[in-house]
Amino acid sequence: MAVLETLPVTALRGVGPRLAQQLADYGVTQVEDLLFHLPLRYQDRTRVTPIAALQEGGEVSVEGEVRLADIVFGRRRSLVARIQDGTGTLTLRFFHFTAAQKHSLQPGARVRCFGQVRRGASGYEIFHPEYRVVTGDQEGGGIARGQGEWPRSGQRKWPGPAGSHIEGIARGASSHKEGIHKQGEETLTPVYPTTNGIGQAQWRKLCAQALQRLEQAQPRDLLPAGSGLRFTLVEALRYLHAPPPDAPLNQLLTGTHPAQLRLALEELVAHNLSLLRLREKQQERAAPALQSRRAGPLQQALLTGLPFDPTAAQLRVMQEIGRDLARPLPMLRLVQGDVGSGKTLVAAHAALQAIANGYQVALMAPTEILAEQHRLNFAGWFEPLGIGLEWLSGRVKGRARKAATDRIASGEAAMVIGTHALFQEDVGFHRLGLVMVDEQHKFGVHQRLALSEKAGIDGRPHQLVLTATPIPRTLSMVAYADLDCSVIDELPPGRQPVTTLLVDSQRREQVIARVASACSEGRQAYWVCTLIEESDALQAQAAEATAELLQEALPELTIGLVHGRMKPADKAAVMAAFKAGTVALLVATTVIEVGVDVPNASLMIIENPERLGLAQLHQLRGRVGRGGGASHCVLLYQSPLSRGGKQRLVAMRESNDGFYIAERDLELRGPGEVLGTRQTGLMAFRIAELPTHNHLLDQVQAIAGNLQREDPAVVDELIQRWTGSKARFAEV
Ligand code: ADP
Ligand code: MG
Repeated sequence: MAVLETLPVTALRGVGPRLAQQLADYGVTQVEDLLFHLPLRYQDRTRVTPIAALQEGGEVSVEGEVRLADIVFGRRRSLVARIQDGTGTLTLRFFHFTAAQKHSLQPGARVRCFGQVRRGASGYEIFHPEYRVVTGDQEGGGIARGQGEWPRSGQRKWPGPAGSHIEGIARGASSHKEGIHKQGEETLTPVYPTTNGIGQAQWRKLCAQALQRLEQAQPRDLLPAGSGLRFTLVEALRYLHAPPPDAPLNQLLTGTHPAQLRLALEELVAHNLSLLRLREKQQERAAPALQSRRAGPLQQALLTGLPFDPTAAQLRVMQEIGRDLARPLPMLRLVQGDVGSGKTLVAAHAALQAIANGYQVALMAPTEILAEQHRLNFAGWFEPLGIGLEWLSGRVKGRARKAATDRIASGEAAMVIGTHALFQEDVGFHRLGLVMVDEQHKFGVHQRLALSEKAGIDGRPHQLVLTATPIPRTLSMVAYADLDCSVIDELPPGRQPVTTLLVDSQRREQVIARVASACSEGRQAYWVCTLIEESDALQAQAAEATAELLQEALPELTIGLVHGRMKPADKAAVMAAFKAGTVALLVATTVIEVGVDVPNASLMIIENPERLGLAQLHQLRGRVGRGGGASHCVLLYQSPLSRGGKQRLVAMRESNDGFYIAERDLELRGPGEVLGTRQTGLMAFRIAELPTHNHLLDQVQAIAGNLQREDPAVVDELIQRWTGSKARFAEV
C-alpha cells in the first residue's frame, strides 16, 4: 500500500488545470507526492520580536502601529511606511504596490509583518514584508502581499487532535478575520522547495490539505514497533510540515531530527529491500554449475606459473568465488580490495573455472587503458595455457572489429576483455557463463545486467564485480545490497606505506631539486600531469610540455614520457625502459593510474591534485611504495585551494588506507559523485541523505533482513510505498 491510495492532486481544493500542469512539470502528480515534498527550512512566526531587538539578516515577525506612510520618489518610486511598537521604529519599503496596499497602511493601523531585516540609511528596514493589518477598521481592507500565506492561528494548541491545526492552515485565507494575534502563529512556517510559478502560499495550502488526507487515511505503519522510533510515519510527516514553535531548528536543518530519521530509516529499509528483491529476481533463473574439480589443473598451472605466492586473502576470496560458481544459481558477488591488493589475479582464477567447464568469460573495464592492461595481464597468464583471448574497444573498427566479433561469437575466444564496446549490438557471445566487471561504480547495475541478457545460454551467467576503489561499507550496504561481498584485506608483502606531502606549486623549484637528489641516489620517480579536460590530446600536450621543462631543469636525467595518445609499441618501450631503470623520471598522464608496477620507483609528484577525486589520487599513489625503501608522494597543488579541495588533500596525507579514504570521499563529495550515479540513477532518495544518515544503516540492514524473512507482504508494501511509482529497480 502506498502511504495514500492513488489520489491525484487535482482532487485538492484550488488545483486547476494550470497549477496541476505546473505541479506535474515539477514531478508532483499525487497527493502523496506532496506529503514527501518536505520543507527546506522554516520561518519562526510564532514569536513577535520587539523592534529594539532586531538584528540584521534575521527573519522576524514584527508588530507595530503605522506612524507614517508615503510614496517617495527616489531612484525608484516606492511606498515607505514607518511603524513603531513602543521599543523602536522600523521602515517597511515596497517597490511594487497597489492603491489598496497604500490605503491599508494608513497611520494608526496596526500591522503584523514578516520579512528579513536589513540595515537602511535610517535604521532597520524590511523590503516587501508579508504583512497584514491586525486591528481597527482597516482590518478587512489589508490586501497584504502575503495574504493567505500565513497559516491561521487556530484556537487549539499544537499538536492538538489530529487534523485540527492542519485544517486551519488550509483555510488560511480567512486568517485576517481572526483579529489580534498577540501570540503569533502556532507552528513554525514551512518554506518549501519550489519552482517558477508556484508560490510558498500555494505549497503551504496544498501540503496542508495533503496532511489532512493523511490524517483521515491513517496508513498502516510498516516498520516493526520497537525499532527505537519516536515517531510513526504519520506523526513524522505532520511534524515536518508543521513543527511546533519550540522545534529544534538546527536539527531540522541538518536532517537529524527524530522525525526525519524516522522517514529516512523507512526509506533506506525500502531501498535495501528493493535491492534484495532484485537479487531474488535474478536468482529465479538458473546459472551453469561450474565444477571446480574440472578447473583444478588450469588454476594450478596459473598459480604455479606466477613469480609470487598469492596472499592468504586472495586465496580465501578465490575459494569463496569458486564455491559460488559451482552452484546452479547465478553468483552475484562483489570483490573489494585496496589498490594493488591483486584483484586481477583473483578474476583470472575465477575465469578459468568457467573456461574449464566450456563457458566463455567477459571482463569489462571502464576505460580503454584499463582494458588494455587487463589484456596484457591475461595474455601473459592465459596464452601459455592455450586459452583464446579477444579484446574489443570502441577504437577497434572495420575489418579488425569484424574479426574480433567473429572470434567472440564462435567461442574461439574463451576470454573476452573490453570496454563498453562489449554492449554493442554487433557483439554476440558464445555460452557466456561469467561476466566480470572491473570498477563497478562506473557502470550501473543495468549495464551489468544488459551483458548477462546476451549471454547466449539458457539461464543467467554468474556475475563478479571488482572494485578498484573500495566502496565504503556504509555505501555498499545501500548500493550493493544485491551483491555478496568478498574483501581482499591484505596487500602483497613488501608494500611500504607512502609518506604524502602537500606542497604549494609556488615551491615547484624545491620539488624539482628533490626529484634530482632522489634520482641521483638511484631512485626512480613519476611526475603525473593532470588536466580537467577529458581530452587525450590536451592531456598529452600538457605532459609533453612538462617533460620538456623538466628536461631543461634537469639536463643530466633521462626522462621518459607516456600518455594515452602514443602508439602502444612506443608506450610499451618507454615503460620497459622505466622498468629496467634506464629512464629515471617518468612524466605521465593519469594513464599510469592502473597496472604499472615498478618497485624501484619510490617518489611520485602529482600536479594539480586538487582536480582529482580521492579515489583516483589513491590509485595513482598506489604506484609507489612497492619496493623496499621509504616512498613519498608530493601533492603539488595550485593555491588557493577551496575548502573541500584542502580537506581532500589532507585526507590523502592522513591515510594510506583505501577504505578510510573512500569514507572521507563519501563525506566530502556525497554518494552521487562517489558512485558516479549520474549515469546509473541509483541513490535518488527522497529523504535519506548520506552520510548524514550513515548511522542508521546497521539498523536498516537488520530490519530489512527480518522483514524479508518474516513478512513478505510488508516488503511489497514498503517497496511500493517508496519506490513504487519510480520502479527504479523493478524493471531489470
Ligand atoms: P588491483 O587489486 O589494484 O587490481 P592488481 O591486480 O593490478 O591490483 O595487482 C597489482 C600488482 O600486484 C600486479 O603487478 C600483480 O601482478 C601483483 N600481485 C598480485 N598478487 C600478488 C601477490 N600475491 N604477491 C605479489 N604481487 C602480487
Ligand atoms: Mg585493478
